[in-house]
Amino acid sequence: MTNHPVLEVRNLVKVYGEGEAQVRALRGVSLTVERGDYVAIMGSSGSGKSTLMNILGCLDTPTSGRYLLDGVDVSRLDDRQLALVRNRRIGFVFQAFNLIPRTSAVSNVELPLAYAGMKAAERRRRALAALGMVGLADRADHEPNQLSGGQQQRVAVARALVTAPALVLADEPTGNLDTRSTADVLAVLDRLNRSGRTIVLITHEDDVARHAKRLIRLVDGQIVHDEVLHHSGNTAVLT
Ligand code: ADP
Ligand code: MG
Repeated sequence: MTNHPVLEVRNLVKVYGEGEAQVRALRGVSLTVERGDYVAIMGSSGSGKSTLMNILGCLDTPTSGRYLLDGVDVSRLDDRQLALVRNRRIGFVFQAFNLIPRTSAVSNVELPLAYAGMKAAERRRRALAALGMVGLADRADHEPNQLSGGQQQRVAVARALVTAPALVLADEPTGNLDTRSTADVLAVLDRLNRSGRTIVLITHEDDVARHAKRLIRLVDGQIVHDEVLHHSGNTAVLT
């Protein structure tokens, strides 16, 4: 096993549209994330957070620049290859949970493994283990509408983990949650990071960003601030 960074982007540029209507959403973003890091990306609306997230998540490709994910150059892969990389190397957590309705928690968590072509018994074993990691082993048979928002998001975190991805990407994971559920979900992410998971989290809330070890601020498609957060206890002080 080599010790390349989980994520390395150089001079990422993303331009939407053409001519007069052109928008330069990313204007030369360079960023390295090492294994085990916990990075919060903040920025006001329109600063390029979603654009960056979509590229880091292999949901979109940059106009120019280079992206190495877990040592693999993904900047020039075609759609089919990108889909494979997404499935194998990235775990996604979205603001809206995106669980399949009327389907048990354990079946939701198993889903990424079904695409990977794994045997049913092994899928179930891993999905139950992932639910255990987020503290929901006793809710495996519950369907999404039988779970609170915070519990649904923890199921989504279990689903993101079950393939043992190189990177967990979370886009406003607590955006739809009340204070109590936010604390539960952040506690799960903190615990995952302490056990070695690499997490990149997009948020506009200071209280959420404080959980990370590193804070990056985007303004107009550029990184203007990149700082190591010093923790005393569980949360850091933002400057
Ligand atoms: P954020 O997530 O920080 O709010 P975005 O990455 O969504 O920012 O957007 C960055 C800039 O790119 C904005 O000016 C936005 O209007 C523009 N933009 C985003 N997506 C598209 C698109 N598909 N087509 C054209 N412009 C876009
Ligand atoms: Mg956005």
